[in-house]
Amino acid sequence: MTLIERCEKSVPEQVVKAVENEPIDSKRLARLIKNGRAVIPYNPIHGPEPIPIGKDMKVKINVNLGTSRDHKDEDLELKKLKVAEEYGSHAVMDLSTGGDIDRVRRKVIDNTDLPVGTVPIYQCGLTKARESSVVDMNSDEMFNSVRKHARDGVDFVTVHCGVTKKAIDSLKECGRLTDIVSRGGSFLAAWILHNQEENPLYQEFDYLLEIAREYDLTLSLGDGLRPGSIADATDRPQIQELITLGELVKRSREKKVQAMVEGPGHVPLDQISANVKIQKEICDGAPFYVLGPLVTDFAPGYDHISGAIGGALAAYHGADFLCYVTPAEHLGLPDVEDVKEGVIASRIAAHAADITKGIDVDIDDDLSKARKELNWEKMFEKVVDPKKAKKMRKEKNSADEDVCSMCGDVCAIKMVEDQFR
Ligand code: SF4
Repeated sequence: MTLIERCEKSVPEQVVKAVENEPIDSKRLARLIKNGRAVIPYNPIHGPEPIPIGKDMKVKINVNLGTSRDHKDEDLELKKLKVAEEYGSHAVMDLSTGGDIDRVRRKVIDNTDLPVGTVPIYQCGLTKARESSVVDMNSDEMFNSVRKHARDGVDFVTVHCGVTKKAIDSLKECGRLTDIVSRGGSFLAAWILHNQEENPLYQEFDYLLEIAREYDLTLSLGDGLRPGSIADATDRPQIQELITLGELVKRSREKKVQAMVEGPGHVPLDQISANVKIQKEICDGAPFYVLGPLVTDFAPGYDHISGAIGGALAAYHGADFLCYVTPAEHLGLPDVEDVKEGVIASRIAAHAADITKGIDVDIDDDLSKARKELNWEKMFEKVVDPKKAKKMRKEKNSADEDVCSMCGDVCAIKMVEDQFR
Protein backbone atom coordinates (compact mmCIF):
# COMPACT_ATOMS: atom_id res chain seq x y z
CA MET A 1 0.00 0.00 0.00
CA THR A 2 1.31 3.50 -0.76
CA LEU A 3 1.43 6.29 1.80
CA ILE A 4 -1.58 7.93 0.12
CA GLU A 5 -3.59 4.71 0.52
CA ARG A 6 -2.54 4.41 4.14
CA CYS A 7 -3.54 8.03 4.75
CA GLU A 8 -6.98 7.20 3.33
CA LYS A 9 -7.46 4.62 6.10
CA SER A 10 -5.75 6.22 9.11
CA VAL A 11 -2.84 8.40 10.18
CA PRO A 12 0.34 6.42 9.49
CA GLU A 13 3.28 6.47 11.88
CA GLN A 14 5.48 8.46 9.44
CA VAL A 15 2.85 11.18 9.27
CA VAL A 16 2.71 11.43 13.08
CA LYS A 17 6.49 11.72 13.20
CA ALA A 18 6.62 14.14 10.26
CA VAL A 19 4.61 16.86 12.03
CA GLU A 20 6.81 16.98 15.13
CA ASN A 21 8.35 20.29 14.02
CA GLU A 22 5.53 21.50 11.80
CA PRO A 23 2.77 24.02 12.43
CA ILE A 24 -0.04 21.51 11.71
CA ASP A 25 -1.24 18.27 13.28
CA SER A 26 -0.93 14.76 11.87
CA LYS A 27 -4.60 14.41 10.88
CA ARG A 28 -4.35 17.49 8.72
CA LEU A 29 -1.11 16.31 7.14
CA ALA A 30 -2.69 12.93 6.37
CA ARG A 31 -5.54 14.80 4.63
CA LEU A 32 -3.09 16.94 2.64
CA ILE A 33 -1.17 13.84 1.52
CA LYS A 34 -4.42 12.11 0.58
CA ASN A 35 -5.38 15.09 -1.58
CA GLY A 36 -1.91 15.43 -3.13
CA ARG A 37 -1.21 18.83 -1.55
CA ALA A 38 1.73 17.47 0.44
CA VAL A 39 4.18 14.61 0.08
CA ILE A 40 6.57 12.68 2.31
CA PRO A 41 9.30 11.16 0.11
CA TYR A 42 9.76 7.86 1.87
CA ASN A 43 10.89 4.62 0.29
CA PRO A 44 10.56 1.92 3.00
CA ILE A 45 13.78 0.28 1.72
CA HIS A 46 15.66 3.40 2.85
CA GLY A 47 13.29 4.46 5.66
CA PRO A 48 14.52 8.07 5.99
CA GLU A 49 13.35 10.72 8.41
CA PRO A 50 9.83 11.58 7.25
CA ILE A 51 10.08 15.13 5.89
CA PRO A 52 6.77 16.65 4.80
CA ILE A 53 6.80 18.97 1.79
CA GLY A 54 3.81 21.00 0.72
CA LYS A 55 0.89 23.14 1.78
CA ASP A 56 0.99 24.62 5.28
CA MET A 57 4.36 23.07 6.02
CA LYS A 58 7.65 24.82 6.71
CA VAL A 59 9.56 25.48 3.48
CA LYS A 60 12.09 22.72 2.82
CA ILE A 61 15.41 22.81 1.00
CA ASN A 62 17.36 20.31 -1.06
CA VAL A 63 21.08 19.93 -1.68
CA ASN A 64 22.42 18.43 -4.90
CA LEU A 65 25.69 16.55 -4.80
CA GLY A 66 27.37 13.83 -6.82
CA THR A 67 30.41 12.95 -8.87
CA SER A 68 31.15 14.11 -12.41
CA ARG A 69 33.37 12.82 -15.18
CA ASP A 70 36.32 14.83 -13.86
CA HIS A 71 35.61 14.55 -10.13
CA LYS A 72 34.98 11.02 -8.93
CA ASP A 73 36.08 11.22 -5.30
CA GLU A 74 33.33 9.37 -3.41
CA ASP A 75 34.61 10.45 0.02
CA LEU A 76 34.38 14.07 -1.06
CA GLU A 77 30.72 13.56 -1.95
CA LEU A 78 30.11 12.06 1.49
CA LYS A 79 31.77 15.11 3.04
CA LYS A 80 29.35 17.29 1.09
CA LEU A 81 26.52 15.14 2.43
CA LYS A 82 27.66 15.75 6.01
CA VAL A 83 27.90 19.50 5.42
CA ALA A 84 24.41 19.48 3.91
CA GLU A 85 23.12 17.74 7.05
CA GLU A 86 25.07 19.97 9.44
CA TYR A 87 23.68 23.17 7.94
CA GLY A 88 20.11 21.98 7.81
CA SER A 89 19.22 20.59 4.41
CA HIS A 90 15.98 18.57 4.43
CA ALA A 91 16.83 16.32 1.46
CA VAL A 92 19.71 15.47 -0.84
CA MET A 93 19.80 14.53 -4.48
CA ASP A 94 22.64 12.39 -5.77
CA LEU A 95 23.23 13.59 -9.32
CA SER A 96 26.37 11.54 -9.91
CA THR A 97 27.52 11.18 -13.48
CA GLY A 98 31.11 10.01 -13.00
CA GLY A 99 32.90 6.95 -11.62
CA ASP A 100 30.87 4.10 -10.18
CA ILE A 101 27.46 5.77 -10.14
CA ASP A 102 25.72 2.80 -8.48
CA ARG A 103 28.24 2.72 -5.66
CA VAL A 104 28.02 6.46 -4.96
CA ARG A 105 24.22 6.30 -4.82
CA ARG A 106 24.27 3.36 -2.43
CA LYS A 107 26.82 5.07 -0.21
CA VAL A 108 24.72 8.24 -0.07
CA ILE A 109 21.62 6.25 0.86
CA ASP A 110 23.52 4.27 3.51
CA ASN A 111 25.02 7.38 5.04
CA THR A 112 22.02 9.61 5.53
CA ASP A 113 18.62 9.68 7.19
CA LEU A 114 17.55 12.49 4.88
CA PRO A 115 15.30 11.54 1.97
CA VAL A 116 17.42 10.88 -1.11
CA GLY A 117 16.46 11.79 -4.66
CA THR A 118 18.07 10.93 -8.00
CA VAL A 119 17.56 11.52 -11.71
CA PRO A 120 17.73 7.97 -13.15
CA ILE A 121 17.81 9.14 -16.78
CA TYR A 122 21.31 10.55 -16.17
CA GLN A 123 22.76 7.12 -15.50
CA CYS A 124 20.72 5.53 -18.24
CA GLY A 125 21.80 8.10 -20.83
CA LEU A 126 25.45 8.15 -19.80
CA THR A 127 25.69 4.36 -19.83
CA LYS A 128 24.28 4.35 -23.34
CA ALA A 129 26.53 7.22 -24.41
CA ARG A 130 29.57 5.13 -23.47
CA GLU A 131 28.34 2.32 -25.77
CA SER A 132 26.98 4.45 -28.61
CA SER A 133 24.75 7.51 -28.08
CA VAL A 134 22.12 8.83 -25.66
CA VAL A 135 19.58 8.63 -28.48
CA ASP A 136 19.98 4.83 -28.53
CA MET A 137 18.41 4.35 -25.11
CA ASN A 138 15.31 2.19 -25.29
CA SER A 139 12.26 2.51 -23.11
CA ASP A 140 13.07 -0.66 -21.12
CA GLU A 141 16.42 0.83 -20.18
CA MET A 142 14.79 4.05 -19.07
CA PHE A 143 12.27 2.29 -16.85
CA ASN A 144 14.84 -0.20 -15.55
CA SER A 145 17.02 2.68 -14.39
CA VAL A 146 14.11 4.04 -12.34
CA ARG A 147 13.49 0.58 -10.91
CA LYS A 148 17.14 0.08 -10.04
CA HIS A 149 17.27 3.36 -8.11
CA ALA A 150 14.02 2.55 -6.32
CA ARG A 151 15.31 -0.89 -5.39
CA ASP A 152 18.37 0.75 -3.83
CA GLY A 153 16.08 2.81 -1.59
CA VAL A 154 15.89 6.14 -3.43
CA ASP A 155 12.96 8.10 -1.96
CA PHE A 156 12.13 10.42 -4.87
CA VAL A 157 13.06 10.55 -8.54
CA THR A 158 13.05 13.34 -11.06
CA VAL A 159 11.35 12.12 -14.21
CA HIS A 160 11.16 14.41 -17.23
CA CYS A 161 7.83 13.11 -18.49
CA GLY A 162 6.71 16.54 -19.71
CA VAL A 163 9.33 16.75 -22.45
CA THR A 164 6.94 15.65 -25.16
CA LYS A 165 6.85 15.99 -28.95
CA LYS A 166 4.36 18.81 -28.55
CA ALA A 167 6.62 20.65 -26.08
CA ILE A 168 9.60 20.25 -28.41
CA ASP A 169 7.54 21.67 -31.30
CA SER A 170 6.70 24.61 -29.12
CA LEU A 171 10.39 25.03 -28.28
CA LYS A 172 11.32 25.03 -31.97
CA GLU A 173 8.66 27.61 -32.82
CA CYS A 174 9.49 29.82 -29.88
CA GLY A 175 13.13 30.54 -30.65
CA ARG A 176 14.66 30.73 -27.21
CA LEU A 177 17.84 32.49 -26.15
CA THR A 178 18.98 29.29 -24.39
CA ASP A 179 17.11 26.26 -25.71
CA ILE A 180 17.41 23.59 -23.01
CA VAL A 181 19.56 23.74 -19.89
CA SER A 182 18.22 20.65 -18.10
CA ARG A 183 20.53 17.65 -18.61
CA GLY A 184 17.67 15.15 -18.38
CA GLY A 185 15.54 17.38 -20.57
CA SER A 186 18.26 17.52 -23.21
CA PHE A 187 18.66 13.71 -23.23
CA LEU A 188 14.96 13.23 -23.85
CA ALA A 189 14.66 16.07 -26.36
CA ALA A 190 17.57 14.60 -28.36
CA TRP A 191 15.97 11.16 -28.10
CA ILE A 192 12.59 12.43 -29.36
CA LEU A 193 14.11 14.40 -32.24
CA HIS A 194 16.36 11.56 -33.33
CA ASN A 195 13.83 8.74 -33.04
CA GLN A 196 10.77 10.77 -34.05
CA GLU A 197 8.83 9.03 -31.31
CA GLU A 198 7.09 10.15 -28.14
CA ASN A 199 8.98 10.32 -24.83
CA PRO A 200 8.55 6.84 -23.29
CA LEU A 201 8.32 8.34 -19.81
CA TYR A 202 5.20 10.15 -21.01
CA GLN A 203 3.89 7.53 -23.42
CA GLU A 204 4.12 4.73 -20.85
CA PHE A 205 3.48 6.84 -17.77
CA ASP A 206 1.20 4.12 -16.37
CA TYR A 207 4.18 1.78 -16.26
CA LEU A 208 6.19 4.41 -14.39
CA LEU A 209 3.31 4.64 -11.91
CA GLU A 210 3.40 0.87 -11.44
CA ILE A 211 7.08 1.06 -10.49
CA ALA A 212 6.41 4.02 -8.22
CA ARG A 213 3.57 2.12 -6.52
CA GLU A 214 5.76 -0.93 -5.99
CA TYR A 215 8.40 1.06 -4.07
CA ASP A 216 6.21 3.89 -2.81
CA LEU A 217 8.46 6.20 -4.74
CA THR A 218 7.61 9.89 -4.88
CA LEU A 219 7.68 11.33 -8.38
CA SER A 220 9.26 14.71 -8.87
CA LEU A 221 7.88 15.69 -12.26
CA GLY A 222 10.88 17.41 -13.81
CA ASP A 223 10.92 20.59 -15.83
CA GLY A 224 13.17 19.59 -18.68
CA LEU A 225 12.22 22.74 -20.57
CA ARG A 226 12.76 25.15 -17.71
CA PRO A 227 14.04 28.52 -18.85
CA GLY A 228 17.81 28.78 -18.69
CA SER A 229 17.92 32.53 -19.00
CA ILE A 230 15.88 35.48 -17.81
CA ALA A 231 14.83 36.22 -21.41
CA ASP A 232 13.12 32.81 -21.73
CA ALA A 233 11.20 32.89 -18.44
CA THR A 234 7.50 31.95 -18.53
CA ASP A 235 7.51 31.25 -22.27
CA ARG A 236 5.30 28.85 -24.23
CA PRO A 237 7.51 25.73 -24.01
CA GLN A 238 7.73 26.13 -20.22
CA ILE A 239 3.98 26.47 -19.89
CA GLN A 240 3.31 23.71 -22.44
CA GLU A 241 5.39 21.34 -20.33
CA LEU A 242 3.67 22.50 -17.14
CA ILE A 243 0.25 21.74 -18.64
CA THR A 244 1.43 18.16 -19.30
CA LEU A 245 2.78 17.91 -15.76
CA GLY A 246 -0.60 19.02 -14.43
CA GLU A 247 -2.20 16.14 -16.34
CA LEU A 248 0.38 13.72 -14.91
CA VAL A 249 -0.21 14.95 -11.36
CA LYS A 250 -3.85 13.96 -11.82
CA ARG A 251 -2.90 10.52 -13.13
CA SER A 252 -0.44 10.02 -10.27
CA ARG A 253 -3.13 10.82 -7.72
CA GLU A 254 -5.55 8.40 -9.38
CA LYS A 255 -2.95 5.66 -8.87
CA LYS A 256 -2.23 6.90 -5.31
CA VAL A 257 1.35 7.82 -6.14
CA GLN A 258 2.81 10.91 -4.47
CA ALA A 259 3.91 13.60 -6.91
CA MET A 260 5.47 17.02 -6.77
CA VAL A 261 6.28 19.36 -9.64
CA GLU A 262 9.60 20.98 -10.44
CA GLY A 263 9.82 24.56 -11.59
CA PRO A 264 12.16 27.13 -12.98
CA GLY A 265 14.98 28.01 -13.34
CA HIS A 266 15.73 31.57 -14.31
CA VAL A 267 12.87 33.97 -13.56
CA PRO A 268 12.92 37.75 -13.09
CA LEU A 269 11.53 38.97 -9.77
CA ASP A 270 8.33 40.36 -11.28
CA GLN A 271 7.37 36.95 -12.77
CA ILE A 272 7.96 34.76 -9.72
CA SER A 273 4.57 35.26 -8.11
CA ALA A 274 2.83 34.43 -11.43
CA ASN A 275 4.96 31.31 -11.87
CA VAL A 276 3.96 29.95 -8.47
CA LYS A 277 0.30 30.78 -8.99
CA ILE A 278 0.20 29.22 -12.46
CA GLN A 279 1.89 26.03 -11.21
CA LYS A 280 -0.44 25.72 -8.23
CA GLU A 281 -3.48 26.27 -10.44
CA ILE A 282 -2.48 23.97 -13.32
CA CYS A 283 -1.18 21.21 -11.03
CA ASP A 284 -4.10 21.40 -8.58
CA GLY A 285 -2.03 22.45 -5.58
CA ALA A 286 0.73 19.85 -5.98
CA PRO A 287 3.88 20.69 -3.99
CA PHE A 288 6.12 23.00 -6.00
CA TYR A 289 9.87 22.32 -6.05
CA VAL A 290 11.73 25.29 -7.51
CA LEU A 291 15.28 25.18 -8.81
CA GLY A 292 16.44 28.52 -7.44
CA PRO A 293 14.96 30.38 -9.19
CA LEU A 294 17.80 32.66 -10.25
CA VAL A 295 16.61 36.23 -10.60
CA THR A 296 19.42 37.39 -12.86
CA ASP A 297 21.91 35.80 -15.23
CA PHE A 298 24.84 38.06 -14.34
CA ALA A 299 25.95 36.54 -11.02
CA PRO A 300 28.15 33.47 -11.67
CA GLY A 301 30.25 33.03 -8.54
CA TYR A 302 27.34 34.46 -6.52
CA ASP A 303 24.44 32.48 -7.93
CA HIS A 304 23.62 31.22 -4.43
CA ILE A 305 22.61 34.81 -3.64
CA SER A 306 20.62 35.14 -6.86
CA GLY A 307 18.95 31.79 -6.07
CA ALA A 308 18.19 32.75 -2.48
CA ILE A 309 16.51 35.98 -3.57
CA GLY A 310 14.34 34.04 -6.03
CA GLY A 311 13.77 31.19 -3.60
CA ALA A 312 12.64 33.52 -0.81
CA LEU A 313 10.15 35.25 -3.10
CA ALA A 314 8.91 31.98 -4.59
CA ALA A 315 8.44 30.48 -1.12
CA TYR A 316 6.70 33.64 0.06
CA HIS A 317 4.22 33.15 -2.78
CA GLY A 318 3.71 29.45 -2.04
CA ALA A 319 6.61 27.36 -3.38
CA ASP A 320 7.21 24.48 -0.98
CA PHE A 321 10.66 23.09 -1.68
CA LEU A 322 13.77 25.03 -2.71
CA CYS A 323 16.62 23.40 -4.54
CA TYR A 324 19.77 25.13 -3.42
CA VAL A 325 22.16 26.86 -5.78
CA THR A 326 25.88 27.12 -5.02
CA PRO A 327 28.41 29.82 -5.90
CA ALA A 328 29.84 27.31 -8.41
CA GLU A 329 26.61 27.19 -10.46
CA HIS A 330 27.36 27.60 -14.17
CA LEU A 331 31.09 27.38 -13.39
CA GLY A 332 31.97 23.88 -12.15
CA LEU A 333 31.21 21.08 -9.74
CA PRO A 334 30.72 22.54 -6.24
CA ASP A 335 33.26 21.72 -3.53
CA VAL A 336 32.44 21.31 0.16
CA GLU A 337 32.64 25.06 0.86
CA ASP A 338 30.34 25.80 -2.10
CA VAL A 339 27.82 23.29 -0.74
CA LYS A 340 27.95 24.98 2.66
CA GLU A 341 27.43 28.45 1.15
CA GLY A 342 24.58 27.16 -0.99
CA VAL A 343 22.72 25.39 1.77
CA ILE A 344 23.00 28.38 4.11
CA ALA A 345 21.70 30.75 1.42
CA SER A 346 18.73 28.46 0.81
CA ARG A 347 18.01 28.08 4.50
CA ILE A 348 17.90 31.85 4.90
CA ALA A 349 15.49 32.05 1.96
CA ALA A 350 13.23 29.33 3.40
CA HIS A 351 13.26 30.85 6.87
CA ALA A 352 12.59 34.35 5.51
CA ALA A 353 9.44 32.98 3.84
CA ASP A 354 8.40 30.96 6.90
CA ILE A 355 8.44 33.96 9.23
CA THR A 356 5.97 35.78 6.99
CA LYS A 357 3.55 32.96 7.85
CA GLY A 358 4.28 33.29 11.57
CA ILE A 359 6.43 30.13 11.54
CA ASP A 360 9.63 29.99 13.64
CA VAL A 361 9.37 33.70 14.46
CA ASP A 362 10.65 32.89 17.98
CA ILE A 363 14.10 32.20 16.51
CA ASP A 364 14.33 35.80 15.32
CA ASP A 365 12.77 37.16 18.52
CA ASP A 366 15.20 35.22 20.73
CA LEU A 367 18.10 36.38 18.64
CA SER A 368 16.97 40.00 18.82
CA LYS A 369 16.59 39.75 22.61
CA ALA A 370 20.10 38.34 22.90
CA ARG A 371 21.35 41.12 20.62
CA LYS A 372 19.72 43.72 22.82
CA GLU A 373 21.46 42.16 25.83
CA LEU A 374 24.75 42.07 23.87
CA ASN A 375 24.75 38.40 24.84
CA TRP A 376 26.92 37.01 22.07
CA GLU A 377 26.91 33.39 23.24
CA LYS A 378 23.11 33.35 23.25
CA MET A 379 23.09 34.90 19.79
CA PHE A 380 25.41 32.20 18.46
CA GLU A 381 22.94 29.52 19.61
CA LYS A 382 20.32 30.91 17.22
CA VAL A 383 22.23 31.95 14.12
CA VAL A 384 22.23 30.00 10.86
CA ASP A 385 26.03 29.51 10.90
CA PRO A 386 27.35 29.65 14.50
CA LYS A 387 30.90 28.70 13.47
CA LYS A 388 31.24 31.63 11.08
CA ALA A 389 29.57 34.09 13.47
CA LYS A 390 31.88 33.07 16.35
CA LYS A 391 34.96 33.26 14.16
CA MET A 392 34.10 36.74 12.91
CA ARG A 393 33.32 37.97 16.39
CA LYS A 394 36.67 36.67 17.61
CA GLU A 395 38.70 38.01 14.73
CA LYS A 396 37.19 41.46 14.63
CA ASN A 397 36.98 42.32 18.34
CA SER A 398 39.09 42.29 21.46
CA ALA A 399 38.04 39.60 23.93
CA ASP A 400 36.99 41.90 26.77
CA GLU A 401 34.53 44.07 24.82
CA ASP A 402 30.82 43.51 25.14
CA VAL A 403 30.07 45.75 22.12
CA CYS A 404 31.50 45.11 18.66
CA SER A 405 34.01 46.99 16.55
CA MET A 406 31.33 48.27 14.19
CA CYS A 407 30.51 51.27 16.41
CA GLY A 408 32.74 50.59 19.41
CA ASP A 409 32.28 53.22 22.13
CA VAL A 410 29.17 54.55 20.49
CA CYS A 411 27.31 51.25 20.42
CA ALA A 412 23.70 52.33 19.96
CA ILE A 413 22.31 49.36 21.86
CA LYS A 414 24.57 49.94 24.88
CA MET A 415 24.05 53.68 24.95
CA VAL A 416 20.27 53.49 25.00
CA GLU A 417 20.31 50.57 27.45
CA ASP A 418 22.56 52.56 29.82
CA GLN A 419 20.12 55.49 29.71
CA PHE A 420 17.13 53.25 30.37
CA ARG A 421 18.71 51.65 33.44
S1 SF4 B 1 28.60 48.28 18.31
FE1 SF4 B 1 27.06 48.81 16.77
S2 SF4 B 1 26.90 47.00 15.47
FE2 SF4 B 1 28.00 46.36 17.33
S3 SF4 B 1 26.44 45.62 18.70
FE3 SF4 B 1 26.63 47.78 19.19
S4 SF4 B 1 25.09 48.78 17.86
FE4 SF4 B 1 25.38 46.71 17.08
